[in-house]
Amino acid sequence: GAQRIYNFGAGPATMPVEVLERAQAELVNWHQAGLSVMEMSHRGTEFVAIAAQAEAKLRKLLAVPATHEVLFLQGGATLQFAGVPMNLLRGKKKADYVNTGEWSKKAISEAKKFCEVNVAASSEDRNFTYAPKQSTWKLSKDAAYVHYCSNETIGGVEFHWTPETGDVPLVADMSSHILSKPLDVSKYGLIYAGAQKNIGPAGLVLVIARADLLGEVVAGTPNVMNYKLQSDADSMLNTPPTFSVYLAGLTFDWLLARGGLEGIAKVNAHKAALLYDYLDGQDFYSNPVDREDRSLMNVPFRLRDDKHDAKFLELAEARGLSQLKGHRSVGGMRASIYNAMPVEGVEALVAFMQEFARAHA
Ligand code: PMP
Repeated sequence: GAQRIYNFGAGPATMPVEVLERAQAELVNWHQAGLSVMEMSHRGTEFVAIAAQAEAKLRKLLAVPATHEVLFLQGGATLQFAGVPMNLLRGKKKADYVNTGEWSKKAISEAKKFCEVNVAASSEDRNFTYAPKQSTWKLSKDAAYVHYCSNETIGGVEFHWTPETGDVPLVADMSSHILSKPLDVSKYGLIYAGAQKNIGPAGLVLVIARADLLGEVVAGTPNVMNYKLQSDADSMLNTPPTFSVYLAGLTFDWLLARGGLEGIAKVNAHKAALLYDYLDGQDFYSNPVDREDRSLMNVPFRLRDDKHDAKFLELAEARGLSQLKGHRSVGGMRASIYNAMPVEGVEALVAFMQEFARAHA
């Protein structure tokens, strides 16, 4: 096409155009080094500096305390479903998991390969449309950690509060909302997030872990999955996804230039309000999630009659409003409105939805 579309895909997702343009300008000959970042040795001074700066910028954005290690790894969030028990069981036999949807379920089934899983709370009774209140959680005393998915990308359910787990380390899959708002990292034993929503291109996964929890792994854990070994090697036990790390660093620059996480949180709240206020003010479309638990990043919605779904998607696509089809497991529509989705994209979506509803009511 002649111009860029508004990409509402859940991931790989839209990236800030300023980041893409900077990468383009630096692509062939990075900073007069005579080569692209893709071609650099990961052990060379240039790339080692790129990686160190990416970590420093991330630490600044999230105010990561000195108690926590920052790792840039591979294998996506999916491999960390296994990496978490491998690294955090520390001789214990059990872990607590909260089940709030598709990604929680995947984390649970992977953890079951390594330990007993206690499902401490679940929202399955109402089809994963809410975040179970802390007062309903049945935590076990002997759990190695408590795991939850703080933003369910498919169901569009977000925790807008931080669970309290006492001395038991809290672990979160933040893949689809990390860097969307300020976060108190000190409350977490471990946070992980795939890059392809709010960080950069796929191929990179971020792990932030309390250093004192690392070092004892389940027998048979591969070295690249050993967070302590990776931390000791500055995430370069083997060749890292160098270009993804570089682009993540550019995205962190972009966020810092926009007022950091406080700045972007205001924009995100505004975008989500535009869409949810519209959804709540009419009855052609609906969103099933409890209001206080709605995701500011992933907004699922249904048309009153799904016979219009195909037409909706076709007309939206023709307007440059792309990838609005909901996940195959839930159907309907979903608009992912991550950091890089401009306000204008959400405005264009709401205008289209109004028009479509008028024509098909
Ligand atoms: N957790 C969540 C919350 C996700 O949204 C996703 C991907 N959409 C994953 C885990 C899996 O990530 P990956 O494909 O990078 O392994």
